Amino acid sequence: MATHAASSAFIVDRIKATLVGLRMPRALEIVDVIVRQLERGEATALEAIDSLLAEELTLRENRRVKTALAMARLSTLKTLSGFDFSFQPSLDRERIMALAALTFIDRTEAVHFIGPPGTGKSHLAVALGVEAVRAGRSVHFITLADLIDALARAEREGTLRQKLRFYSRIALLVVDEIGYQPVVRGGGNLFFQLVNARYERGAMILTSNRGFAEWGEVFGDPVVATALLDRLLHHAVVVQIKGASYRLRQHADLVPEHIRSKALIHPPSIMAQPKRRGRPPKPTGAVTNAA
Ligand code: ADP
Ligand code: MG
Repeated sequence: MATHAASSAFIVDRIKATLVGLRMPRALEIVDVIVRQLERGEATALEAIDSLLAEELTLRENRRVKTALAMARLSTLKTLSGFDFSFQPSLDRERIMALAALTFIDRTEAVHFIGPPGTGKSHLAVALGVEAVRAGRSVHFITLADLIDALARAEREGTLRQKLRFYSRIALLVVDEIGYQPVVRGGGNLFFQLVNARYERGAMILTSNRGFAEWGEVFGDPVVATALLDRLLHHAVVVQIKGASYRLRQHADLVPEHIRSKALIHPPSIMAQPKRRGRPPKPTGAVTNAA
């Protein structure tokens, strides 16, 4: 009996040394607990092997997701389970859940979330990005202003081609906040180069508080806007949110009526004709610079 105990202690030590060699810290941490369960007959040998390996895999998976989320710039954890669909009745939950299956990434589609500020566009965009990271897809989240800034800097430094290649390799590119700020001169053209490089090669999620008819104004160039929409509406899913701001939900009674009604966005029209010269007619109640 004593020899048996001594030999199993020897084997446990050897397992631990092996786990160190294999760099399996979580398995090393719990091996004693699992051995005790085995000795007390609470687990079979198969169950013991299974839980030792599963624990290690979970640790690795969590680490991978954490690193990938940071690289994707998806630091704030907005998830689909944390989204209250009952607050946003105009939103079809099933449609969002279908997007979470991520087949739109394989089809290299563009998903548009359009609606007034605070209606959960960025939340949903981030949540789908998080799902994609968990599924092992490469994701990058950036605001339109930052993206154009990065492209403009690369152009100045003579590295635009590399930058475009970098953004083209990402399976899902999330471009947040189209329309909150007017795009800088030449910015629309840089964004077009990127969209064109990714066209039918990678999926995108875009969020905007402005309808497509206003893109000419947003990008300061109706020709660029038409070319952009041509690509971004070809294989597209358009999700329009018409509800109230989640940010203001507790204070809705304090918000003056004219601001509350202003938060209603002009419905985007796929038949938009941004080719027309000059400023497109301003839709009543459009949000111009709210964020
Ligand atoms: P938008 O991008 O449309 O302006 P956000 O997605 O940033 O709005 O939402 C504003 C805030 O409200 C965020 O903190 C977001 O997580 C939260 N939020 C918005 N809608 C919901 C919702 N239906 N359920 C839970 N949280 C929500
Ligand atoms: Mg937002």
